[in-house]
Amino acid sequence: METILVSACLVGESVRYNATALRPDRQWLGLLAVRCRLLPFCPEVAAGLPVPRACAEIVGGNGCDVLRERAVVRDNRGMDLSSVFRKAAAKALEVCGENGIRMAIMAENSPSCGRNRIYDGSFTGRRRAGMGVTAALLVAHGVKVFSQDQIEGLAARGDAGSI
Ligand code: SF4
Repeated sequence: METILVSACLVGESVRYNATALRPDRQWLGLLAVRCRLLPFCPEVAAGLPVPRACAEIVGGNGCDVLRERAVVRDNRGMDLSSVFRKAAAKALEVCGENGIRMAIMAENSPSCGRNRIYDGSFTGRRRAGMGVTAALLVAHGVKVFSQDQIEGLAARGDAGSI
């Protein structure tokens, strides 16, 4: 049975910056849970960040840029968390390696887990195209990363078996 890494906040764990979880969509969760082993993982908590914590955004680029040290992750007090977020990504990659994981489902918009969109660094709620730091590192190492929105779409079309 294939193991899939999944953002812990997508499966009900209250690990987000504000100590909440995202509302899990039972349809895709149920479909995948019978076919795969879901391994919940929160990169930011694994890197030692507390719950709750200040919210953070990528400033000046996207997750790829943070990995190349061309952009930074700051919290809303201005603290530079870039090295912590790179450590978080490295831990996720390590877990994938240890468990033979080739696929991940990650929470859209997060500066760590965002697959297609992230907040734009202005702390105004605006978003931009791009990956979070962990998603970017996993993709760079050949892990297929999907957002929960993409998985919901597949499940709605009855295509979850194709992922
Ligand atoms: S780092 Fe990822 S798993 Fe952790 S709370 Fe943020 S989006 Fe969820």
